[in-house]
Amino acid sequence: MENKIDNAALSPSAMRQTPERGDSSVAEMDQAFMRAALALAASAAERGEIPVGALIVQEINGQRHIVGSGGNQRRIDSDPTAHAEIIALRQAGGALKRWQLTDCDLYVTLEPCPMCAGALVNARIRRVIFGCRDPKAGAVTTLFRITDDPRLNHRLEITPDVLAEQCADLLKTFFKSRR
Ligand SMILES: [Zn+2]
Repeated sequence: MENKIDNAALSPSAMRQTPERGDSSVAEMDQAFMRAALALAASAAERGEIPVGALIVQEINGQRHIVGSGGNQRRIDSDPTAHAEIIALRQAGGALKRWQLTDCDLYVTLEPCPMCAGALVNARIRRVIFGCRDPKAGAVTTLFRITDDPRLNHRLEITPDVLAEQCADLLKTFFKSRR
């Protein structure tokens, strides 16, 4: 499988901390993981894919570990479902040998689309942390609110706008270069 988990390349020191909820170090940790997701997005751009990157982080006894990661590879795979989140979810399920990811959080540079938001609910992901909002397809807060809809059987905690500007800039630069 191409998307090997490279923990060495994706381990800013903040990830090893064990912050309490609401602590400002949660924000620091979120930014550290988002920077790692940004790196995945940047390599997607190098492959000519729309730059979106995602990471799945499992918490065990207060320690956090990356168990899945992915960049958008829709074009290379000729697969309309090969969004970064889906790649990362499949990898995490394979690594943990289960489909329920209740102890995992997902970081992604762009607000998830309806397909990915639905997949996050199905995977029972605990929290979704995203970079910039997507006015064209965002299904966490912008166009739809799939991940905390009380009618569904699972709801996620939502943390929007983490390094939003960097995440949006990467997309803008990519689309500008293709014009
Ligand atoms: Zn998606």
